Amino acid sequence: MTNTLNTTRTKIVCTLGPSSSDRETISALIDAGMNVARLNFSHGEHSTHAQNIATIRELSREKNKPVAILQDLQGPKIRVGKLRGGSTTISKGQHLTLVFGLEQTDDNIPIDYRELAADTHVGAKILLDDGLLGMTVVGIRDGLVDCEVVHGGLLKSRKGVNFPDSDLSIPSTTEKDTRDLLFGVAQGVDYVALSFVRTAGDVQKLKQMLRALGSDIPVIAKIEMLSAVENIDEICQVTDAIMVARGDLGVECGFANVSAFQKQIVRSSRAHGKPVIVATQMLDSMIENHVPTKAEISDVANAVFDLADATMLSGETASGRHPSHVVNTMRDILSRVENSGMLIPGEENARLFKSNSTPEVVARTAAELGDACKAAAIVCLTLTGNIARTVAKYRPQVPVIALSPRPDVVRKLSLVRGVSGMQNTMFFDTDGALHEIAKSIVQRGMAKEGDLLVITGGIPLASMQPTNLIKLHRISKEDVL
Ligand code: PEP
Repeated sequence: MTNTLNTTRTKIVCTLGPSSSDRETISALIDAGMNVARLNFSHGEHSTHAQNIATIRELSREKNKPVAILQDLQGPKIRVGKLRGGSTTISKGQHLTLVFGLEQTDDNIPIDYRELAADTHVGAKILLDDGLLGMTVVGIRDGLVDCEVVHGGLLKSRKGVNFPDSDLSIPSTTEKDTRDLLFGVAQGVDYVALSFVRTAGDVQKLKQMLRALGSDIPVIAKIEMLSAVENIDEICQVTDAIMVARGDLGVECGFANVSAFQKQIVRSSRAHGKPVIVATQMLDSMIENHVPTKAEISDVANAVFDLADATMLSGETASGRHPSHVVNTMRDILSRVENSGMLIPGEENARLFKSNSTPEVVARTAAELGDACKAAAIVCLTLTGNIARTVAKYRPQVPVIALSPRPDVVRKLSLVRGVSGMQNTMFFDTDGALHEIAKSIVQRGMAKEGDLLVITGGIPLASMQPTNLIKLHRISKEDVL
């Protein structure tokens, strides 16, 4: 049987796209270390996403390697409309009017947001194409927004537009998001990511929509707006996970703020025990090149030092020249930093985690015991994955193995740092379980006779009890037979 233990503690999220939608490439991505496949619903048809989901599920079963599927909803992204010939050059100092529902003229640029004139103000900044081009609002009249170009260049149709200092009234989910969500729920995706979250209410609204569809798919809040950074604690309280979406975050909040905001967002997510993904341009130059830049290596390393749960690849795997090679490179950097001896989670843990509830204390102790005894693994017996997530919060050095009877729980744990999910039959009797657990872990090549396991869970087993058990188990000859 394949060894399902992850080689890196930090998980790898790969965005699928034109370069990675064939069976062979998806297979190579899984072999290289993809833990979560991200389907970006800003692009692609439902039929392509459905085909990718089927391929991932099939390969994941064949390889006995869990891969979670993350549906990334486009959210209220505002875009430039259709331009004549697909693009136009705008020049510094030029005066242009942003219009809704009208064709492009020499003086007009169409955008797909009706309420802009009501939502913006004179002096507001408008950024286009990831901030490469910029304008300032100089006048508002009859639903039209007059602007002066500050940074010119080639503007292409359908490029994104950001309004960093306007308070937009656009709803947090669009009609397209609702259609896409129905599709995602029907497909049984493991996570849904919401773009352009501003408040905790945006996340709660998506959760309500999911509930109305009879679904409890966990939600990932993408933090890419200043209001989301300001509301990060409230958002962390209601969301299931966080993504530091640094592409739009840089445009919305100013590039120079990205690093400090990243630290703040990762720290808040960790303090609330919510998995956190660091995303965008991590190995961007590898879209073309065979080797990363030193700055990119440091960027990936920084996410590991911050103890993030996952790093994400976007264009590198979606449209790059060598998707699986990039994942191998990412895995190599992650594992070298993780094994460098330079990670010291203890001090940060003491500062972040104050709760002394029984499950917290047991999970913290299991994590400390695992490291102190140099155990082969901390084994969590879990129905819902909660115990494994709580132990993982403390970032033990030793692997966390989550045994759950639920395949969906096993898949979802693919996003959580240091956790390897494995499907197992339900254990009912504690003593018999210890032998069965040790045996199945040895069979999967994750430990051997004489190794120590820290086993934790809630007893009585299968009763949904909060974590209340820690057992140190030395693997015996009988376990191995
Ligand atoms: C980002 O902006 O960094 C991001 C991850 O979102 P998207 O790729 O949807 O723009």
